[in-house]
Amino acid sequence: MRLLAPGAPLTPSEVALPAPGPQELLIRVEACGVCRTDLHLIDNELPDVHCPITPGHEVVGIVTARGALVTRFAVGDRVGVPWLAWTCGVCEFCRAGQENLCPRARFTGYTRDGGYAEEVLADARYCLPLPGNAPAATLAPLLCAGLIGYRAYRKAGEARTLGLYGFGAAAHLIAQVARHEGRRVFAFTRAGDEEGQRFARALGAEWAGPSDEPAPEALDAAILFAPVGALIPAALGACRPGGRVVCAGIHMSDVPAFPYRLLWGERSVASVANLTRADGEEFLGLAARLGLTASVERFALADANRALERLRSGALEGAAVLEVPRH
Ligand SMILES: [Zn+2]
Ligand SMILES: [Zn+2]
Repeated sequence: MRLLAPGAPLTPSEVALPAPGPQELLIRVEACGVCRTDLHLIDNELPDVHCPITPGHEVVGIVTARGALVTRFAVGDRVGVPWLAWTCGVCEFCRAGQENLCPRARFTGYTRDGGYAEEVLADARYCLPLPGNAPAATLAPLLCAGLIGYRAYRKAGEARTLGLYGFGAAAHLIAQVARHEGRRVFAFTRAGDEEGQRFARALGAEWAGPSDEPAPEALDAAILFAPVGALIPAALGACRPGGRVVCAGIHMSDVPAFPYRLLWGERSVASVANLTRADGEEFLGLAARLGLTASVERFALADANRALERLRSGALEGAAVLEVPRH
């Protein structure tokens, strides 16, 4: 299901099956998660989108062929293909353990073809090992919603009271991690989204309410998963002095002007960009230890446009996942 022009619905397309390069795997896709970033791609809100492109960067699949230099995975292994597809390895960021900031990085489903497909090619050095016994659909959201959500969560520091703005695919996973670590979770949703608030409370949030309502007490930190710039001043206003607001998304609407007193008191705002391979290994290990489970709504690959519209409307509970029958 490919994006042929910005703004167009995805179109079923036939593409010749490529052979894997020396460092690549050819992977039969079992499932691919639907991420908010896919909507930003389709809506032309990311820089340098080159069409045609196949979206999808939460890919779970089985290795069917591998390049001559690949030793890490064997044919038949289940792997995950995340957002970070390749980095240069030689720039100052790559050498400092910040490959997520590599200016030459390539990204799955954005600058190379992703997993809204029956098959995908991926550089084996950036793939992640996945357990073979869990359903593919419930593993897929871990690969971006979980993983980048977790990077944002760590950046929020030692918060005892944690606000989550936008209770979708990422927040519903991170709420479980935060509860496991004994933190108190406060969930903010769109006004009137009582289903979303109920879902957040069911996953351990001690309070859930609309994002235009004040939090019941001052927060140590907040993570913004909703791509709404106006939430930055709202979340700063909800944080105690010294509190931190972490923006987890790749794109946000413009941030409105706000009085300096909201930032005053050593509050800070940070963004999270992409992931490193170390993040992937760490988070997937944690997810396995906690038995972290994603709530998913399943769609056939051919129904990708319907899944994206469900995500856009805010009607999803948890994450949307495209499933690809064995072919
Ligand atoms: Zn680099
Ligand atoms: Zn994503």
